[in-house]
Amino acid sequence: MATLLKAKPVLSEIYTQLKFDIEKLGKMPCLEIILIGENAAAEWYVSNLQKKGKKYDIKVNLRRFSNDISQLELENVITELNNNINIDGIMLQKPLPDQIDEHVINSLISPFKDVDGFHPVNLGKLMLEQPALLPCTPQAVIEILRFYQIETTGKHIVILGRSNIVGKPLGLLFLNKTLQGNATVTTCHSKTENLPAITLQADILIAAIGKPEFVKPEMIKDNSIIIDVGTNLIKDASGNDKYVGDVDAEAVYDKASALSPVPGGVGSVTTALLLTNVVKSVKLNQNKLFY
Ligand code: NAP
Repeated sequence: MATLLKAKPVLSEIYTQLKFDIEKLGKMPCLEIILIGENAAAEWYVSNLQKKGKKYDIKVNLRRFSNDISQLELENVITELNNNINIDGIMLQKPLPDQIDEHVINSLISPFKDVDGFHPVNLGKLMLEQPALLPCTPQAVIEILRFYQIETTGKHIVILGRSNIVGKPLGLLFLNKTLQGNATVTTCHSKTENLPAITLQADILIAAIGKPEFVKPEMIKDNSIIIDVGTNLIKDASGNDKYVGDVDAEAVYDKASALSPVPGGVGSVTTALLLTNVVKSVKLNQNKLFY
């Protein structure tokens, strides 16, 4: 029976540290969120950030734009926020409409205010093992493993998914010569052949593909550790909305040694780490640390 790697105790530690760091800052950090169009999951995430911001003394401003915003209009907004000394962090909520060039926008957000950690400078620093604002979801996986004292050194970690926001940066973090690194990493994707033969070798399996309950017991090794990054909205048997991960949690429960739940796992820790990045960005903007 798997131990559930719940977010709650991890969050308690992160928020205690966050409160302490904010008290020491001597100013109220300010996060500006840009939300384009209407998306239920994005609304939920943003309202959660606003609630947490209120609780922990982080000012969270929300700017809404309609789905037909032009590239130029969005670039002007970002430039204005980059130049505003009262704004510490900028978060651009995804997904973006088709007319927006995401790569251009990611590069335009100041790397000092890039709380999502998607700027090429921050991703480059991640690769070089230099201090940087790191993407929050990969960091959340690392934090969960750290909190539950799960050894990664020398382990074979298989990551399902190679996105720029989860799979790739997470693979780099696991390769780092750090406590939650030093792993042997295999990254799989939709073109990977004979996937189960690879996942069956994983001491630690990370699922981040966006396919509800894709990982089944026959794909995992006995007593392996499973981290479920997936967040998929499905209908339950009674037709109600329900969030499930990329892992068939009920089915793997008896075979895995540990499993992160959905909800109440990686997603909750991600929100907390976004706020942690806002506090880091205050220090960066004050001292131009690391850069
Ligand atoms: P994404 O950009 O759509 O990437 C999905 C990745 O999975 C791609 O690399 C894709 O391969 C791979 N993939 C798809 N089907 C596959 C299959 N059958 N076998 C093997 N690989 C497959 O997704 P994402 O943004 O990384 O998000 C992944 C999941 O994590 C989603 O459920 C998302 O909601 C969730 N998520 C959660 C958080 C959180 O904080 N908890 C944050 C971000 C995302 P190709 O590259 O070949 O297409």
